[in-house]
Amino acid sequence: MAIDRIEVRTLIGELDRPFGWSQRWTNTRGVTTVRVIDSDGSEGWGEAGADPQTATAIMGLAPGVIGTEALQVRSTWQKLFETFFQSHGFAGPSIPALSAIDMALWDLAGKQAGEPVWRLLGGKMRDAVPVYATGLYYTESDYPDALFAEADSYIEQGFSGMKMKVAGMTFAEDVERVKGLRRNLGDGPRLMFDANEGWDASTAIRFANAVADADITWFEEPCPSYDDASNRLVREQSPIPVSGGESLKTRHEFAPRLAQRVFDIVQPDIAVAGGISEMQVIAQMANAFGVKFHPHFWGTGISFAASLHLVSTLPFTPPKYVPEPYVNEPVLEFDQTPHPVRENITESFTVSESRVTVPDAPGLGIEIDTAAVERFTAGKVKVIE
Ligand SMILES: [Mg+2]
Repeated sequence: MAIDRIEVRTLIGELDRPFGWSQRWTNTRGVTTVRVIDSDGSEGWGEAGADPQTATAIMGLAPGVIGTEALQVRSTWQKLFETFFQSHGFAGPSIPALSAIDMALWDLAGKQAGEPVWRLLGGKMRDAVPVYATGLYYTESDYPDALFAEADSYIEQGFSGMKMKVAGMTFAEDVERVKGLRRNLGDGPRLMFDANEGWDASTAIRFANAVADADITWFEEPCPSYDDASNRLVREQSPIPVSGGESLKTRHEFAPRLAQRVFDIVQPDIAVAGGISEMQVIAQMANAFGVKFHPHFWGTGISFAASLHLVSTLPFTPPKYVPEPYVNEPVLEFDQTPHPVRENITESFTVSESRVTVPDAPGLGIEIDTAAVERFTAGKVKVIE
C-alpha cells in the first residue's frame, strides 16, 4: 500500500448574517481540505484554514507524501517538517498545511487497519469528551435579547459552559455584556470570554477586575500571542485564569510558554499546531508542566472528529479520584456559530450532558458528503499524483 493521489480543495460558504469579534466581521466561512487516496482505494481526509497560502503550502508538501504508507504518519511528519525547518517557513502556513496532511494520514491509517484513530493512538481514557459552546459573537442589535436567547439555546442543548466575545466594543459596553449575560444565566453554567488579542496588558487587567464577580472560568487571548510579557503580566495580576495559544504551532512554540507559565490554560488547534501527531506531544507537555489543555476548534467535522480522538486519549491533569471537566479534565471547544460548510460536509455531532461521544468507526469515524464538498468547492481541485 502507498499513497498515490492527493486532492486539495478550498471550500467557502456564504453566511446569511455576518458576525464579528475584536479583529473583524465576516460574512463567509471556509476550509482547505486534503483528501489522501491510497493505491488500495482507501482514503483519508484532513483540513486546515481556508487561506490561499495554506493550500499552496499543502501543494508544496504533498509530493513528499506520495509513495508513503499512511501508518508511517509520524516519520512522514518529521521528514516534511525538516523540509521547511531551516527555510524560516516555521511560523508561516507550513505547519497548518502539515496539520491537514497529518490528520488525513491518521484517518487513512485507521481505515486501513480497521481501527478508530483513538485506538491507534494507544487507547482512550474516556468514551465521551467534555465540550463547551463557542458563540455569542457580535451581531447587529444583539444585546441584550439576541445574546441572551443564544445563551439560553446552549443550555437547552445540554452545554454546561459557553464562551462569548469581548474587546470588540467600548470597555463599558463589554463590561455590561459580560455582567448582563451572567445575570441572565444565573449561577451554574460556566462562562468564558475571548478578547482575540484585542487589548494591551493594563486594559486587560482592568477589564478582568471590572467583571471579577461574574464567575468567569477563563479570559482567552487578552493580548497578542507574540507578546509573552503582556500575557504573563495579565496572568499574574488578573483574578481570572488566562488562556491562549490557538494560533501557536508545534511543541517548539509551546515549550517556552509552558516553561514560563505565560498561560494558565493552553488552547492549540489541531488544524494549526501540527495535526493529531503534534497535538499529542503538546498535550503531554502541558500535562508535565501542570498547565490545563482545552483545545481550540473552528473548523468542520473533520478537525472536530480528529480533536475528539486526540482528547479521548489524554490523561487527567493531575490524576485524582474524581475527574472533573475544566478542573482536571480537558474540555474541547465546539463552535456553534453558522458555518455552511461544516453543517453540510459531515454529519453533526450530538451533545449529551455537555459531552460528545468519540466515534468508534475506523479512522476518524466520519462520513464525508462528497456532493456537498463539490458544492462548496471554490475554484479548481488541485491534484498531486
Ligand atoms: Mg479564541
